[in-house]
Amino acid sequence: MKCSKCDYAAILFQRYSTNHFCAEHFIEQFEQKVTEELFKGQMAKDEDRIAVALSGGKDSVVVLYILYKILADTEIDLFAITVDEGIRGYRDDTMKSARKIVDDLGIEHEILSFRHEYGFDLDTLVQDGAMPCTVCGVFRKNALNRAAKRLGANKVATGHNLDDEVQSIMMNYLKGDIERLMRLRPMKTQPGLVPRIKPLREIPEKEVALYGIVKGFYEEAKDCPYASLSLRSDVRDMMNRFENLFPGTKHSTLKGYEKVIELTGDKRQQTNLSFCKTCGEPCAQDLCKACVLLDKLNSR
Ligand code: SF4
Ligand SMILES: [Zn+2]
Ligand SMILES: [Zn+2]
Repeated sequence: MKCSKCDYAAILFQRYSTNHFCAEHFIEQFEQKVTEELFKGQMAKDEDRIAVALSGGKDSVVVLYILYKILADTEIDLFAITVDEGIRGYRDDTMKSARKIVDDLGIEHEILSFRHEYGFDLDTLVQDGAMPCTVCGVFRKNALNRAAKRLGANKVATGHNLDDEVQSIMMNYLKGDIERLMRLRPMKTQPGLVPRIKPLREIPEKEVALYGIVKGFYEEAKDCPYASLSLRSDVRDMMNRFENLFPGTKHSTLKGYEKVIELTGDKRQQTNLSFCKTCGEPCAQDLCKACVLLDKLNSR
């Protein structure tokens, strides 16, 4: 099949837009979309210092590379933070990809580990009965925020793509957790919490992967061995089924959510966070989730 914009062979059929794209036009459209997303709503501003959460997985490698490319002629400063959770057979490979991309681009790189920060590898905690994604999410968020502040970042960029965003929206609907649903688009910045930006949030996962392949970043994308144990995995299958039957479902789910956010406007309440009595990180209760979790783990 030919590209919808030129005579070259297409490498992608976008069912939701009914367009075919050759490699060159796919890259052009991809980079244009991310640039628009990045500068819309002042996601990125001159003199920002952005920490990229670089796991070494495909999405994070792509977000680091594309930010590096788009921001090359700006005053915006970029560096990467990698958190090694301690997942054998998975993290070793992604750590290699993380190191390679920062070396190739000549970007400052900070590496943290759960073992060093909290005294445990994720694998050990899971063997002792912990829910992997819960522990992983709480500790990773805590470690990233602390490191971003320590290294002077005023924003943290993550590689969340359209599929991730839509899964988070659907998971919160399914759990009836409206507060958390609204927090996906925070109304204000909270003291001590470095704001997150998601430049790939409107790009489908498959297109992020394809961009990575075309750019030659990696050969095979491995999934975390714990991914299948989470609700997210079932929601992902469900949304993929819907997208297959009704192309455009993922985009319309995100657009519908944005509409709700717009309509609720000022009615969205957001409590002011206080600071954790143990570690000083921002939190809603006396102790942050990471300290509560650590207390629990240390008292076993
Ligand atoms: S799938 Fe779960 S355990 Fe694996 S990296 Fe993601 S959050 Fe962590
Ligand atoms: Zn073309
Ligand atoms: Zn704490």
